[in-house]
Amino acid sequence: MKNIEFFRYLPGAAKAKSASGLKKLVNTLLKEHRVYGTVKRDGFPVYAEIADASELELFSTPTHLSAKQFLFPPRETLLRYDIRRHLHEAVIESERQAIIGLHPCDIHAIALMDEVWAYGRPDANYLSRREKTLIVGADCMPDEYCFCKSLGTMNVNDGFDIFLHKIKKGFLVRTASDKGEEIIAGLKLREAKPYEVKELEERERLREASFKARLDALPKDLPEVFASSNESTVWERIGSICTGCGSCNTVCPTCYCFDIKDEVKASLSEGERVRVWDGCTLEDFAKVAGGHDFRKTRAERLRHRFNRKFRYLTDRFGMPFCVGCGRCSRACLVKINITEVTNELIRESNKRRP
Ligand code: SF4
Ligand code: SF4
Repeated sequence: MKNIEFFRYLPGAAKAKSASGLKKLVNTLLKEHRVYGTVKRDGFPVYAEIADASELELFSTPTHLSAKQFLFPPRETLLRYDIRRHLHEAVIESERQAIIGLHPCDIHAIALMDEVWAYGRPDANYLSRREKTLIVGADCMPDEYCFCKSLGTMNVNDGFDIFLHKIKKGFLVRTASDKGEEIIAGLKLREAKPYEVKELEERERLREASFKARLDALPKDLPEVFASSNESTVWERIGSICTGCGSCNTVCPTCYCFDIKDEVKASLSEGERVRVWDGCTLEDFAKVAGGHDFRKTRAERLRHRFNRKFRYLTDRFGMPFCVGCGRCSRACLVKINITEVTNELIRESNKRRP
């Protein structure tokens, strides 16, 4: 059952420690799930496993790494084998989990991942984990890197189970699934008062007016911009400062490239096949047998990454594979900024138009 327009009131602050409502919700989730949520580590918001409600703190700015790690882990075993015993078995490790604190852009990112992992030959590992995952969203306020408004991902009405909107004295709660509704119904919350809904609307207006970063073209026009930008000097320029560190891939909630490795034990008869994150900006990514490399330079690798986000995957799935979270710009040590680069290409493309 969807209750996306119906709000209930959950009392308390954004820190579960001092918030009776949030604490109640986390404690309910802890009964049946492994719970991950946003916490502060070394002054930064990150996702971590939560064993006690008091560890949770909801943040209005994005976490450094996204929540994709809980659905598509950085390293996972896909297969175990023992040649001597003629055994091999597929490994699918998943358990009931709840992720708390995803912002709207990150919920959109999970919807994109759902498309990817169900495409072609569906990926049993991802889908099994996804099926057992409960999503609790939380609203946000843009910083100087956020540009979800330009990509239509600043609001979300689907893809979560429960969503928490912060107001001064607590939260207004929406649900978008039967499971989410069941959990919230169990908390016996009262319906939101009209003045509380008004406060939320006011906050939403403020949020919408607070974006500093934006793209100067509509998402539907971006494939054409990138299709005409292959020869742009922008690629050489950013390629000359890029360190090839791969951070932009690692922090991105929609990057899903991986490598498969066989890890053989010392006995040489037993081993595991593992899947590990990979990234198209890393030097070895496009190297193939015989030492051939079909994207030799950093400029070519960055051009590929941007095209994946705004053109190649849009052609396949019908939407950009960037949700505007700004994580890649925040993480880049040489300050390659996705909105600045894209806007430069948009300007060049506009100039080329008759
Ligand atoms: S984070 Fe910056 S420096 Fe590192 S690979 Fe990405 S663009 Fe290059
Ligand atoms: S490309 Fe950058 S801004 Fe877009 S979703 Fe990935 S990390 Fe976020």
